[in-house]
Formats: sequence, structure tokens, C-alpha cells
Amino acid sequence: MYEFWFVVGSQLLYGEETLKQVERNSVKIVDALNASGNLPYKLVYKETIKTAEGVTTMIKEANYSDACVGIVTFCHTFSPSKMWINGLSLLQKPYCHFHTQFNLEIPNDEIDMDYMNLHQSAHGDREHGFIGTRMRLDRKVIAGHWGNSDVQKRIGKWQKAAVGAAVSKSLKVMRFGDNMREVAVTEGDKVEAQVKFGWQVNTFPVGALVEVMNEVTEAEIDAQIEEYQAKYVFATNNIDPVRYQAREEISIKKMLDSEGCKAFSNTFQDLYGMMQLPGLATQNLMSKGYGYGGEGDWKVAAMTRIIKSMGERSAFMEDYTNDLQNGLSLGAHMLEVCPSLAEDKPRIEIHPLGIGDREPPARLVFEGKAGKATVSSLIDMGTHFRLIVQDVECVKPTQIMPNLPVARLMWKAEPNLEVGTECWILAGGAHHTVLSYDVDAEILRDWARIMGIEFVHINKNSTPEKLELDLKLSDLVWKNA
Ligand code: MN
Repeated sequence: MYEFWFVVGSQLLYGEETLKQVERNSVKIVDALNASGNLPYKLVYKETIKTAEGVTTMIKEANYSDACVGIVTFCHTFSPSKMWINGLSLLQKPYCHFHTQFNLEIPNDEIDMDYMNLHQSAHGDREHGFIGTRMRLDRKVIAGHWGNSDVQKRIGKWQKAAVGAAVSKSLKVMRFGDNMREVAVTEGDKVEAQVKFGWQVNTFPVGALVEVMNEVTEAEIDAQIEEYQAKYVFATNNIDPVRYQAREEISIKKMLDSEGCKAFSNTFQDLYGMMQLPGLATQNLMSKGYGYGGEGDWKVAAMTRIIKSMGERSAFMEDYTNDLQNGLSLGAHMLEVCPSLAEDKPRIEIHPLGIGDREPPARLVFEGKAGKATVSSLIDMGTHFRLIVQDVECVKPTQIMPNLPVARLMWKAEPNLEVGTECWILAGGAHHTVLSYDVDAEILRDWARIMGIEFVHINKNSTPEKLELDLKLSDLVWKNA
């Protein structure tokens, strides 16, 4: 299981008594953070570092530990930062500089020079900050008292981003077929994606999937149908197409698991030997944390998996059509929207697809929840990857839409539909996104920083005029990074 190391910077100058007090206080801070309920992952007090050799040894251990997915540093006292240079130059794990202080207030009557020497983070953390900046280390900086719940929550968010990075570094993506013909935005450099993100993206023949499908037993399908019955409303009496989706789901899962893949893509243009585009099958797999991208979009498949690992209620999404009168976007896909977004129990329905030349597939139909969310798109700029994130507000659908046979969400983009879309288009954001209720822009910014890629945030303060210049400058920086 994932853990984070809490490392305290100090030096030998203070003497044994003071250093013991530093350690006792630091353990109290870590215990309180763990007990707060605001950290999704355990923080482990590692040690109070006093020498350059100590820094190097600790960082080597952090690099090699599979459990440790990030380090948090704090300088309770002054820790001369030249002693950190050799160790920090080796660091391969996400890094958060937490500027806190054991005491919330200054004890005006008692304060003396001993107190000043012990509670020195105000200048200790500045020395520590300088060396991070001087070494150009990408890191998260969080300042505030460790007992403050907002501060605790920000550490928790950064932990999620670091876990997202760990998930990314070990992610395998299975591609069934290639990208949809002629589409630009779903393309990208898979070698560069592996260098940057660690993704192993490989293709597997649809024919191999069909062979696995042909071996699935009726008993396996019965068990899968029982799972559907427990989770969803059957809004059809036509069981055969549902059983066919069960067969597809079982087979896709077998292939993914046999290769250790946690995400996959397919395309309606390559369903050779299959009678239905996987709909319900893909949706139910996403509800179990697998990433998915339609039309061969392996980038969004990977991002769906990663963002789900940072917050469960996240899903592959597509901008479908606009309500320009009311400033709303309608998001859906042909079939494949994850039921983690659903307001009510999803319904299993069967309808013709309109494209793809296959039998009408069973799919889950539902409306999304209201609430704040983000949409994210990762694009390949040729020179580098750019993550574009937009703040959105999901709303209750204004109409019932009785003839629309897919899961759908409606949202208002920040700052509004027109300006928000102008910004999105200027930034090059795709029509495929990951929509998340649980992963906000701060977490995604932290994740992008850890991965070393460009980050663009479209929010209530965005204007196309300002964004245009920001994008030009940012592009210059990242082109040469
Ligand atoms: Mn699509």
C-alpha cells in the first residue's frame, strides 16, 4: 500500500536535547495529520536529518521503496541546505515542501532565545526553499499550521496527485485496433508518452478478443448477469443482447488482466467478428476502475485510469452538443459513460447505434449528478504534452430527452459557454475528456508538475486575450524543456 515519508531537516549544532524535542514534536505532527481524516494515505515519520550523508541515504531509500510514493519535508529548525544538494539531486519521487510550525502562536510571556532556536521554521524553511528553487526542483509548497483542516486537505490532495503519478508510471494500455481513421487529436507519440508518463501502450488484435469471447461459458455469463441485476435496473426484456455484452466484458477483462493492463481503447471501425460495440461491458469495466477511450483514443484511456485512481467519480466524456440559449454543454458518448457519475440507478436499455454496422447494443442510460467538476484533456503538441483542465458546474438536465438513448451530463463551463469554449479551442483541447467530480484543478496541476508537462487551467477568471499570450509564452518554454 502507498505511503509518504515525512522528513525533518535539522543539523547537529543544536545539541542532543533540542534534537530530541524536534523529533517528539515532529512525531506529534505526523500522528495528528494521520488522525485528521484529511489524508487519504499514511504519512510515516522517517527521521530528523542532521548530516549530508543522512540526506543522501534517505533519498536513495525513498527512490527504491515501492511503498514510498512521495516525500514531505519540514525544517523545524535551521538545516543548512548545501547538505541537501547531493541527496536532492538524486530524488526521483514527488516532493512536497511543507512549511509549518509546531506552535500556532507565539507565547509572548515565555519566549526566549531557546524557544527561538527550537521553532525556527520561518527561516529554516526559507533556506530549504532556496535550494529547491536554485536546483530547479519541481515541487509542491504548502504553508500553514498542521492542525488546520484546510492545510491538511491540501496535503491530502497532493498525496492523490502523487499516487496518480505512481499509477501512471506502471500503467499498461491495451489497444484493440488502431485509432479512428483520419482523426487528429487521438493520435500521439507513444514512445514519448512512455518516456514522460511510463505508459506501455500496445496493440492486440480484435481477433484474439473474439477467440476469448467464443470460449466464455454460459455459467460465466450467468454470474455476470447476476452482477448487472444487483447494480442496475433492467429496462428491457430482451436478455440476449445483454448476455452478449456480458460475454464481451468477461473477455475484455480476461485479456486486460492477463497482460496486467488497467486501461484499454477500441474503435467502432474495427469490431471484426463482434456483433455489438461493447457498451454496457465497457461501462461496467470503468465502474471497476479500468480506463477507457473510444475511437482508439489511448491517451484518454490512460488518463481515465489515472484520474480515477485520484478520485473515483471520474469518467471518459465527450462534448457532444450545445444549448447556446442557456449556456450549457451536453456531454455523452456513443455508449461508454462510466456509471460512477450517475444520479440514480442506471438503466440497461437496448437501442440501435446509428453507426458501426452492428447489432443494437445494450448500454447503461442515466443522467449525471449536479455539482462542481473538472474536464481534462491531454494533447500531444509535437514538442511536448499539454494538460488542459477546465472548471465546470454540472447541472440537472433541463429536459427529459426521451429519445436520447445514452448516458449524459449537462454542464456550464467556466467562465461561461462562449468564453470557456473560446479558451478551450485556443488551447487545443480535444472533444474527448475525463470529467471528474472528485479531482479538482489543484490535484491535476500537481500531477502535471510531477509528470513534467505543461498545464493550462481554464477557470472563472480566464479570458481568451490573456490565455492567448500565456499559451504563446508557455509553448516557448515547453518546446525547449
Ligand atoms: Mn468519441
